[in-house]
Amino acid sequence: MSLNRLHADVVIVGAGPTGLTLANFLGGMGVSVLLVERNLTTVQEPRAISIDDESMRTMQAIGLHHEVGKIVASGYGSHYYSPAQQRFLTVEPTSRDYGFDKRNAFQQPDLEQVLRDGLSRHASVRQMFGWEFQAPRPDRRRCGRHNRQPSHRPGARRQRAISGRL
Ligand SMILES: Cc1cc2nc3c(=O)[nH]c(=O)nc-3n(C[C@H](O)[C@H](O)[C@H](O)COP(=O)(O)OP(=O)(O)OC[C@H]3O[C@@H](n4cnc5c(N)ncnc54)[C@H](O)[C@@H]3O)c2cc1C
Repeated sequence: MSLNRLHADVVIVGAGPTGLTLANFLGGMGVSVLLVERNLTTVQEPRAISIDDESMRTMQAIGLHHEVGKIVASGYGSHYYSPAQQRFLTVEPTSRDYGFDKRNAFQQPDLEQVLRDGLSRHASVRQMFGWEFQAPRPDRRRCGRHNRQPSHRPGARRQRAISGRL
């Protein structure tokens, strides 16, 4: 990839759920996007665990609600117990105001993978994993290299950096 020729209408820094969702949105509209992620992969560790009905509508808007539906446990409830094993709270929402269950359990690595796979539908989105975006400086607008330990790949030593011109 020639860094001298890299340009895009939108640069998204970070391929977490937010950046990946935004990239899917913009890609669906044909906007040219550069998605820069310092790690080599999407996250591998469990983090967020619940996606609500409004966010499921967002998944629908980017055309991935069926795929996301496969990796969630829809409409789960929670029972809360005291140390004496007495239930003191029950949360079991049944409404589907937005067409989806209110609470849906998931694992963040699975969701991120679905979102990243979804980007393959959009030719206007380019992904740069293993690159760190650095704020533009007046005297330095190209890429450079520096030593950082990227996560998600044990043993990897170098991580490349890219800076942009706004
Ligand atoms: C240990 C942990 C446990 C958590 N547990 C829960 C939980 O139980 N329930 C829950 O709801 N939420 C949990 N969360 C929170 C949840 O993971 C976040 O709300 C969610 O990941 C936010 O998504 P995001 O896309 O906004 O940001 P992130 O997921 O943080 O994604 C941002 C991405 O940007 C990248 N990035 C940042 N700067 C640069 C740069 N300069 N160049 C290139 N890339 C860059 C980062 O590497 C990262 O991948 C947890 C978070 C952590 C860290």
